[in-house]
Amino acid sequence: MCAVLITGGAGYIGSHVNKLLASRGVETVVFDSLVTGHADFLQWGEFIAGDLLDPPALERAFAAAPIDAVLHFASYIAVGESVEDPNKYYLNNVAATLNLLDAMVRHGVRGLVFSSSASVYGEPEQERIDENHPKRPLSPYAHSKAMVEQMLEDYHRAHGLASCRLRYFNAAGADPDGEIGERHVPETHLIPLVLHAALGLRKNISIFGTDYATPDGTCVRDYIHVSDLAEAHALALDWLKGGETRAFNLGNGSGYSVREVIEVARAVTGRDIAVVESGRRAGDSPVLVASSGRAKAELGWEPRFGDLETIVRTAWDWHLKDCRD
Ligand code: UDP
Repeated sequence: MCAVLITGGAGYIGSHVNKLLASRGVETVVFDSLVTGHADFLQWGEFIAGDLLDPPALERAFAAAPIDAVLHFASYIAVGESVEDPNKYYLNNVAATLNLLDAMVRHGVRGLVFSSSASVYGEPEQERIDENHPKRPLSPYAHSKAMVEQMLEDYHRAHGLASCRLRYFNAAGADPDGEIGERHVPETHLIPLVLHAALGLRKNISIFGTDYATPDGTCVRDYIHVSDLAEAHALALDWLKGGETRAFNLGNGSGYSVREVIEVARAVTGRDIAVVESGRRAGDSPVLVASSGRAKAELGWEPRFGDLETIVRTAWDWHLKDCRD
């Protein structure tokens, strides 16, 4: 039986996709350097330790099983760090992906699902962003995602490599079974930080900017449950059989402000969460909300964990467990 290769399968989204595919009987090979991934998330499929910048290690991954398709999550994700250290982002997110694509061409692998990001759009020009919105990346991180998307179009033209570029909005929540969840070191994302404050792991949560032109002055984001993202990847694997390359937005289509997220977290956890109002964070757009009509129409995707309370509740259950372990 052919296997699916998952780069970054020990990370947040990659591990949820690995679990979902394994539950459906898909054979998986996880390739991860464990620099930011977690060994305790490696619960399904085969694991090959290695870095995409190390071609012999990559060859070991392709030799582990006949590989049918690749799900490519491995990348650095901290926007602020990418501004300070662009080399790290262009090397690990772009150059490393070139190694992967060339290995795929050499091994005759039919297609790739790529972890892209809504950050490729930059400052939004309309309320709901669809895939035709202009791309104006604002950071080396966002540029690295846009560059890989361009590479995928070029490899499709040159080598017939099919690809599905999934542009995530704000991934959030955790495995409803509580086996895996969101753990970044250092943590920079809003929902885990708010939950750390609820757990007493930090004194408070800073709100980055209260003077935006939004209903309550704080930034609005489209939070999408990680299990809904995982389902989109499973559907994308089928979609690849059509041999095309295309980008798809993945979001719920409804926006929540930073203050609303904190309110929901207070209700879900039943704990006090102290807030400090701080200045704006550089590079933040006031509002980022997806139009995901294309993913629904072409992939047959339908989010199941859309409401923010469910998203925060699954994240909270995971954080309670993770801080006990
Ligand atoms: N945010 C905040 N305080 C924090 C972390 C994030 O107010 O400690 C805000 C951030 O400015 C943004 C939203 O929460 O408006 C979501 O940020 P996150 O880093 O989770 O995701 P991003 O939208 O940057 O991908």
